[in-house]
Amino acid sequence: MLKGKTAVVTGSTSGIGLAVARGLAQAGANVVINGFGDKGEIEAIRSAIEQEFGVTALYDGADMSDPKAIVAMVKAADERFGGVDILVNNAGVQFVAPVDEFPEDKWDQIIAINLSSAFHATKAALPSMKRKGWGRIVNTGSAHALVASPYKSAYVAAKHGIAGFTKSVALEVAQQGITANTICPGYVWTPLVERQIPDTMKARGLTEEQVKTDVLLAAQPTKQFVTVDQVAAFVVFLCSDAASQITGATLPIDGGWTAA
Ligand code: NAD
Repeated sequence: MLKGKTAVVTGSTSGIGLAVARGLAQAGANVVINGFGDKGEIEAIRSAIEQEFGVTALYDGADMSDPKAIVAMVKAADERFGGVDILVNNAGVQFVAPVDEFPEDKWDQIIAINLSSAFHATKAALPSMKRKGWGRIVNTGSAHALVASPYKSAYVAAKHGIAGFTKSVALEVAQQGITANTICPGYVWTPLVERQIPDTMKARGLTEEQVKTDVLLAAQPTKQFVTVDQVAAFVVFLCSDAASQITGATLPIDGGWTAA
């Protein structure tokens, strides 16, 4: 379905991004994976994608808080593959604290990685998509792009921001075969969620089990975590021709969270 296309997936050495990169590769796309982690493990991830799916997979370690590195990553992919057809802006970090105690550097970091990186990558990728008259931009928002939770002010601001940014982009390129959408997962069981449990325990004075059931899945009516493979399948669908009229949308995949 995506044979001959090239996808850049930011933050894809782990969690949702990794599943999305693998899903796009399974659908035939060459992929550029990105993110931090152990060199050996990343190489194993990269070569497994090539071997399992018969595509080319490259790794670029660009830091999503560094605009120059982001642009260089997209340009390198464009030159290597003759275009970037699919851009998934997925890299994201979280920090949990009351707003009056929220560290300034954490605020700046979250806005840079979770929001501004999508602007820099989109700006760099659009000329290639316009040249080809086809493109898919999928931005990983969150249920927190639609509703808020306490103690996550920077994250909620960045995720609401990315939904707005995506709508603007979608309108600008609507007649050029390019779609831009924000996907809004509820709680997906990934290292990002696992890591915020200790902070939430501290901020709210709860046990680990209470954080899982009373805080995380309290908001999710299905009482189940979303899986990374479900998110990947959603992204692959948005990259298909069947989804060519879905653009500028803010799309929940959240077990009913934002219906409440
Ligand atoms: P994760 O921690 O498993 O993965 C995050 C990825 O981003 C990793 O590959 C990491 O190396 C990379 N990354 C972090 N900082 C980076 C930087 N400065 N430069 C480049 N890469 C960087 O997290 P995840 O849960 O898979 O989250 C992925 C995205 O999904 C994030 O945008 C997150 O906000 C969003 N999201 C997650 C959930 C959830 O429940 N897990 C829910 C909604 C939205």
